[in-house]
Amino acid sequence: MARRKLVYEGKAKILYEGPEPGTLVQYFKDDATAGNGEKKDVIDGKGVLNNRLSEFFMTGLAGVGVPTHFIKRLNMREQLIRQVEIIPLEVIVRNVAAGSMSKRLGIEEGTPLPRPIIEFCYKDDKLGDPLVAEEHIIAFGWASQQDLDDIVALALRVNDFMSGCMMAVGIKLVDFKIEIGRVWDNDFQRLILADEISPDSCRLWDIETGKKLDKDVFRRDLGSLADAYTEVARRLGVLPANSGPVTRPTLIN
Ligand code: C5P
Repeated sequence: MARRKLVYEGKAKILYEGPEPGTLVQYFKDDATAGNGEKKDVIDGKGVLNNRLSEFFMTGLAGVGVPTHFIKRLNMREQLIRQVEIIPLEVIVRNVAAGSMSKRLGIEEGTPLPRPIIEFCYKDDKLGDPLVAEEHIIAFGWASQQDLDDIVALALRVNDFMSGCMMAVGIKLVDFKIEIGRVWDNDFQRLILADEISPDSCRLWDIETGKKLDKDVFRRDLGSLADAYTEVARRLGVLPANSGPVTRPTLIN
């Protein structure tokens, strides 16, 4: 049996060559890392939950006209995606002050922002993904001004959709990170949503209690990450209401 070709291995996902040119298989690992890999653990079932949640958000976004790389879920840990040229930026959208922005600017976590704030970080683990200005992005050729305009519009549409989705199940979307890919249709370039959207890349707080339901549970040692992600999946109807944490999943093909 031929072994499939590994294209890229990141901290939480692996990309394999897909069945057709221009496609990839995205595999969600159980590995959790924080602080650029300084804190590490394996959380049973995290990959399964993120695969399902990312499918849920990407499918919903496609339904409201946001172009994404998602084609279909293949099994519990894998999804078929379009191959893209990743723009080396982490696009962060914030609705409420938290995390690195609170630390950097001394704004108390939980302070609502008067309008969504978009930040760009240059994707480079060795540099710790530094915050960059639009001037850096254009000067160093990571994206053009037109790309940036399109990215901002796309990020705000994702924010509107995700905020509504979460609000409907009693969760506040505090902030999130997305990545954008370029695809070529003959001579024309398009920008589409790539990577993943999951509680690994969002801050999600229960509206009533303020309880954290995202990766901060792991970063800040606040309890069971699998329980938090299961709660998000359960509320969104991605898992049956009475299901426990997804432990030791069986792979199906
Ligand atoms: O750490 P910071 O406050 O900048 O994170 C903002 C948002 O971006 C959080 O939701 C966090 O989970 C996400 N993020 C991410 N991957 C990174 C950095 C931040 O998903 N490398």
